[in-house]
Formats: sequence, structure tokens, C-alpha cells
Amino acid sequence: DSEAQERILSGLNEDQRAAVTATDGPVMIIAGPGSGKTRTLTHRIAYLLATGKANPYQIIALTFTNKAAREMRERVQRLVGDRTRGMWVGTFHSSFARLLRREIDAIGYSQDFSIYDTDDSKKIVKQQMNRLQLNTDEVKPRSVQRTISSAKNQMVGPQEYTSMAHGRLQEATAKVYPAYEAALKRANALDFDDLLLKPVQLFNQEPKILEKYQQRWQYVHIDEYQDTNHVQYVLAKQLAAGHKNLCVVGDDAQSIYAFRGADISNILSFERDYPDATTVRLERNYRSTENILTLADSIIDQNEDQLDKTLWTDKDGGEKVLLTEALSEKDEAKKVEQKIRDLQLREGLEYSDFAVLYRTNAQSRALEEALRRENVPYRIIGGTSFYQRKEIKDVLAYLKLLVNPNDRASLERVINYPTRGIGAKTQERVRNYASQNDMSMWQAVEQVEQIDTLSTRAKNAVGRFRAIIAKYMSKMDSAPVDDLTRDLIQEAGMLSELRKEHTRENLRRWENVQELVNGIAEYTASADNATLSTFLQEVTLLTDLDGDDDPNTVTLMTLHASKGLEYPVVFITGLEEGLFPLAKATQERTELEEERRLFYVGATRAEERLFLSWARNRYRYGKQEHNTRSRFLDEIDDSVVQTAGGGRLRQKKNRFSSSSKGSTESYDDMDPHYYRKNLRKGSGSSKKGTRRTTRTVSSKSSSSNGSSGRRVVYDEGEG
Ligand code: ATP
Ligand code: MG
Repeated sequence: DSEAQERILSGLNEDQRAAVTATDGPVMIIAGPGSGKTRTLTHRIAYLLATGKANPYQIIALTFTNKAAREMRERVQRLVGDRTRGMWVGTFHSSFARLLRREIDAIGYSQDFSIYDTDDSKKIVKQQMNRLQLNTDEVKPRSVQRTISSAKNQMVGPQEYTSMAHGRLQEATAKVYPAYEAALKRANALDFDDLLLKPVQLFNQEPKILEKYQQRWQYVHIDEYQDTNHVQYVLAKQLAAGHKNLCVVGDDAQSIYAFRGADISNILSFERDYPDATTVRLERNYRSTENILTLADSIIDQNEDQLDKTLWTDKDGGEKVLLTEALSEKDEAKKVEQKIRDLQLREGLEYSDFAVLYRTNAQSRALEEALRRENVPYRIIGGTSFYQRKEIKDVLAYLKLLVNPNDRASLERVINYPTRGIGAKTQERVRNYASQNDMSMWQAVEQVEQIDTLSTRAKNAVGRFRAIIAKYMSKMDSAPVDDLTRDLIQEAGMLSELRKEHTRENLRRWENVQELVNGIAEYTASADNATLSTFLQEVTLLTDLDGDDDPNTVTLMTLHASKGLEYPVVFITGLEEGLFPLAKATQERTELEEERRLFYVGATRAEERLFLSWARNRYRYGKQEHNTRSRFLDEIDDSVVQTAGGGRLRQKKNRFSSSSKGSTESYDDMDPHYYRKNLRKGSGSSKKGTRRTTRTVSSKSSSSNGSSGRRVVYDEGEG
């Protein structure tokens, strides 16, 4: 209807509108952060629906996280009302897992296949290495697993790999790769890479199936296109081969997943593959203030390999970017926490307006401690997520086993957990029996009475385990999933295991298990045709970037996880040589450039305020390390930066020297002892003579108090 169309188009600028209304044929939007790429994609989908050019069934949109997918669907719904049923919006992995659930029997798997996460894959690699008598000290299973994964991302199969392999790691990998594939096949399991590879195979082998999906999905959309890998590129190409209605959006300057096989050349290939593509440029940034953009531009300017882009904002000026030097990671965390509380109190910000970013997961610990101490609510995206916790993985393994008893990784995880007298020896004998008789481990368990190498006691123990699993397998279709889970946990002995010792840790574990059961109940009640198997798939495919949407908390996450997001206030912490950029990235220009893009991504998450910090000392790898500040701080445009001491970022020629004193304005050159003394005196915060800004962060007009060019100090007195 025209009213909806009007609404959809009126929320866009002219260039964005052009991208939205160019519905047919290939379209590529390569534009800077905050220029509305994701918004444009979302409005484009809504426009297709509102104009009736497509029904929901004909649309697929591929995003980078499940959370982004959820948001996209919600926004489309807000624009066109509740007519999105049948539209596929999801990550590459979850979308193609879903497709495989329907079609995979065509390539010799059954539809109840398990999905192995990285942990599971690593275990299988290790087992195969042991079986092949490869020394796992010389070549780490983790390295082999990674190598197999990147081979798969390049679409290199075991045979081809063998002919290319040279060097110790690759030669070991060449031996393990086929065995690993066979083990997965026997277990009716796919690893993460398979979720994309198998569809390509399927489409090549069964053109009829490909055709079906090509005809179904008349409009294909991809967000964050710069981070797609080769297989994803091939898949997109296959799907769009007929109609060529493929719309991709991305930013080469934000490509940060090369280490996972992301291939920036996909952007260039797009132009080659579709010479008649419409290319759209978006130059207005709606997100950040001028100062933040100036800083970000000055970062990315240092890279050689970047397409030229211009960005402007009408949020001119803005607060300066504040750089804080801390003594230690604790001190840094405390300063971050103080600033958050300060801004929150004085400027009426919500906790959810803040994001604290860091290069490595380990850095969250000090930050968490500081926030906890002051009762600042926070959540962490990434790291050890809920579904990665041991107790949760244990329960999930039981459930996976019910769905696919051939799932060996799950079977081995729980066959003797909780302990039930099926020790390593017994397991090995069962395993051997299985491989001698060319059957899955579960099949061996099923006929355990015939395994001659086992004692009667061992046979009985295995038999009891088999009985539990079999009982719940038979209940699966009748009992509600949450009841089934609860009973199973109890009967398998997990409940009493967790209650055996009344430690806080066990209590927490038990609560987590309860939470899982509640989650299952909620899930099966909410979605139509939600089964245990679809639940398991969804939780396995949660990316480590997916967080829950807790309404009012500070968000902590790695820089990688921050992609696509935006916050009024952003902290980038740990700007030290060796940490950001990581030491291993400083040897190669290309890797250094990726670190720089990561800094760029982080800085451009900020809408109004950006804080940078580094710590002279940091506890890393179990020891205290003394740091110099990140080279990135020497590259950025210092006209938009203010140090916490009130001075300029660069005022001394020799900026790494800590011997030159004489400036009380800047911490850069300050003697740590002097600094510490002051810190104690002033508690590191705003006790004495501090001038503060009263500008509200959410205000869109920054010219009101003429803040540009003026120093505003947050936590230390000006010199
Ligand atoms: P990134 O590269 O970081 O993913 P992006 O290009 O996808 O950024 P969006 O997240 O789509 O940018 O948009 C950034 C912000 O600007 C969002 O809050 C969005 O709603 C807003 N925005 C984009 N275009 C417009 C517009 N035409 N009018 C008003 N707000 C807009
Ligand atoms: Mg985006």
C-alpha cells in the first residue's frame, strides 16, 4: 500500500532511496560506517513487500549474527506490519542448516544430523590423530582442526589437499582430513564449515534442488558483505544465478575477519561477476560526531589497501575524544567505571548507552571486577557464552543424543558422565568394536552384550546407560520437551551430581541447567513447529557475537563483536603495543592493516563520545607486562584528541620517552610514581577542581555550547 511505501521511503536520503528502489538486478552498496547500509537493506526488503514486488516467501536476507537477523525482521515488521511470514532472515550458517534439514538426504545424510561445534570438531580431530598415531604434542589437534577448516573455507577437499600439502602441519592435516570427514559422516554430523559446503555440493549435484531455491528466493540480500568467505560467495552466486537480484552491502574498511577466511576480494569479484551492477555510494554518516569521524578517518588513512570513501556528518564538532593513560589494567578499569557512573548520573544516560570494547576476551576480567564492585549492571557479549558452559553442554549432549544417537561426540561426552562405571578402557573397547564392525559407536552400545572384550560388569554398566537413552528416545514424540529434559537429567544422575556438593559453583551450575530447561520450554511454546531438534540447532548456531538483549546494562565485548552496532558512548581500552595491535600482527603489513580496521570499526561505533585508554602495566599470560602505548595513538589526528590530563596527545618530539618531565598536563610523559601519588590523593577521580561539561550526550546539535575546540575534562583537574 502506498502509505507504507511513503513511510519506507521518507526515512531515507536520496542515495539510500535509489538503492531501495533499484529492486531488480545486482546492487552493491559499499559505504562507510554509519551511512545507513543496514538501514537501507532493511527498508529495501520492506519496500519489496509493501509494493507487492515480492511476497515474504521470495525474500532471503543473510546477516552476520542472529541478533542482527532478529532486529532486521523486527524493523521490517515495523515498516510493513505483520507480513513477514515465510521470509528467511538469518545468518549464513543458520539459514543453510535449515535448508539442509530439508534437503540433505539427497547427498547421503539423514535429516536429523548433528552440528559439531569447534570443540566437538577438535575432539574428533584428536581421536583421529591418536588412531593414526600422530604425535599430538608435535602437531596440535587445534592447529589441525583450524587447517582443515580453512581448507574447507577455500573449498579444498581431502584429496586435493593431500596433493598440495607440505610441511609438518599440512602433512599431518592431509592424513587427518579424510579420516575426520569419515568420522563425521559415520556420526551423521556436520561441522560449521559443512553447513555452507554441503549446500554447494548439494546444488552442484542436484541442479533441480538448486533451481527450486533459485525460483523461490527472487531477492537475495547480504549484509556485512566484506566479511563473507569464499564458500559464502559461491553460495550467493549460485542462488542468484538466474534472476541476479542480489543486493550486497558492506565496507571494505571494516573487513575484520580475514583470519577466519573472509575474503575482501569478494567485493571486487562482485563487480567482475556483474558488470552491469548498480553501485551505490552513501556518504552521509548519521551516527557519529565530526570529531569521532575525523579520528576514525585518520586511522584508516594509514592503510594502503583501502578504497577511497568520503563521509560527512552534520553533527559537527562534538566532544573531543578523550585519551586516558592508566597505571595498570585495574586502574584503567576503575577509570572506565568511574566515567560511566559519572556520565550516567550527570547526564542522565542509561547504562545501555555504554559499550566498553577490548581486543582480547581476557581483558574483560578487570573491567568486570570494577563494574561489579560498584554495582554497575553489565553484560558480556562473546567469551564463554551460556551455551558454552560445561553443564549446559552436558545437558545438550544428552539431548543431541536422543535426536541423533550416532552423534559420537555427544555420546562420548555423556557415556560416563556422571560417572557410571564406564571407564576409559571400556569406552575404548566399545570404540574398537565399532570400528572393526564398521558401525557407529551407538550401534556398538546397542549390541554391547556381544562385545567379547568386555567384562560382565562393564556390559551391565553400558546396558544401563543404553536403557536410559532408549527410554527417552521413545518418549521424544509424546512428552513435552521441557518435562522430558527434566526427567532425563534426573534419571541420568546429573541432578544428584550437581547437588552432591553444596558449593556455590554447583548451585550456579544447577541454576544454569534450570535456565536451560526454562529456555527450552519457552522456545517450544513460542515458535510453531519448534522441536527439540530445531532448538538444538539454534543454540549450536548462536554465534559467539550474539548476546541477549538485557535492557539496561553496560555492554562489554571484543572489538570484533561490536561490528554493525552503535552506542552513544564507547570506550576502547587496552591501546598498547603488543595488545592492540596484537604483537603477532605487527610483522606483516596486511595483518597490521586488519588491526587498524578493527580500531576503525571500534571508533565508528560511537555516536557522541569516544574514550580511548591504555595501561602502562598489564597482567598478561600470568605475568606483569610493561607497555608502551599503541602506535595507533601516534597515528590518529591529535587535533580531536584530548588527554585526561588536559594536554595534547602529542606535544613532545620523543613521545616514547618517559624520562622527560616538566609537563603536569599530560600523563604521557609523567613519572609513574608522581602519578601514583596524585592518584591516591585525588582517588583518581574528580574530587578536586574539575571542570565538567553539562552537554547532554544525546543532543544532536553539538553547536549549542560551542564545544569544539574547547577542553572538557572528566576525571582529573586541568593542569
Ligand atoms: P555499519 O557500517 O557500522 O554497519 P551502517 O552503514 O550499516 O553502519 P546503519 O547502522 O544502517 O549504518 O545506520 C547508522 C545509524 O544511522 C542508524 O541509527 C540509522 O538508523 C541511522 N540512519 C541511517 N540512515 C538514516 C536516515 N536516512 N535518516 C535517519 N537516520 C538514519
Ligand atoms: Mg550495518
